[in-house]
Amino acid sequence: MTAQRDQGYVHEVFRSIQGEGLYVGAMQIFARLSGCSFCCNYCDTRGAALRTEECALRGIDGDTMIANPVDPAELAAFVASLAGATPGIHSLSVTGGEPLEQPDFLEVFLVHVRAAGLPVYLETNGLLEGPAARIAPLSDVVSMDIKLPSLCGGTDTFDIYSKVLPIFGARELFCKVVVAEGMKYEEFTGAADLLASYDRMVPMVIQPVTPGCGCEAAGAALIERCCIDAARRLVKVRVIPQCHTVMGLR
Ligand code: SF4
Repeated sequence: MTAQRDQGYVHEVFRSIQGEGLYVGAMQIFARLSGCSFCCNYCDTRGAALRTEECALRGIDGDTMIANPVDPAELAAFVASLAGATPGIHSLSVTGGEPLEQPDFLEVFLVHVRAAGLPVYLETNGLLEGPAARIAPLSDVVSMDIKLPSLCGGTDTFDIYSKVLPIFGARELFCKVVVAEGMKYEEFTGAADLLASYDRMVPMVIQPVTPGCGCEAAGAALIERCCIDAARRLVKVRVIPQCHTVMGLR
C-alpha cells in the first residue's frame, strides 16, 4: 500500500522525563520519529535511525504495536490521551531519528497536538532549512543541536546553521553541543562564535558525551575549558550531561 503524503514513520510514543537540555526534569510525552540521514559517532538512538515497520504506542496499560506509516490524527489522539492521563505534562517532545526529515507528517500531526492544548518541544539536528521553516511556527520550544564535524562523520554543517538559526530564533530556542575527547577544539569555539554572531542571548548547553556512546568521554579539564570559552562569547552557558541514562529512564 502506498503511504499517503502526510503519514509518518514513527518509532515509538511514550511518556518520560526529559533528560537533556534546559528542560531537564520536565515530564513529557515523547514522539520518536524514525529515520535519520546524518551520522553522529555518539548517536544513542540508532534503533530509530532507519524507518521501522511498526510503531510502539507505550500506554499506561502496556504497549500496542501499529503498522507504519501512521496516520497523524490517530497518533495525535494517542498523544492527547497519554497526556490526559499524566499530571504535570510540560509538552510533547518531537524527537528522533530526525523529525525534520518528515515535514509533511509533522505539519498535520503538530496541528492536531497543539489543538489538543499540548505545547510542542522540537528536538532537531537543524540541518534541513526548508523543513525548519515549515515546522518552526508549530514549535513552542526548539532544542537544536550544533554538530561538530569531527564527531559527526566530518560533514561541515556550519553554513546550514547560519541559515537555520534565524528561523528557529523566532521561537524559544536553545542550542546543544555534544563534546568529547578527540574532537577538534576549534570546531567547538567555531560553534560558539556562530551562535554569538547570530545572538549572544541564545542559551548554549554543553553536553559531555555519555560514556559508552561511541566517543571517548570528555574529561573535567575539557569540559571546563569549553564552558569558559563559550562564556566568553555567549551570555547563557550551561553544562548538562544526559540525565535520563543516569536515572535508568527511556
Ligand atoms: S542527528 Fe540525532 S538521530 Fe541522527 S545520527 Fe545524529 S544523534 Fe543520531
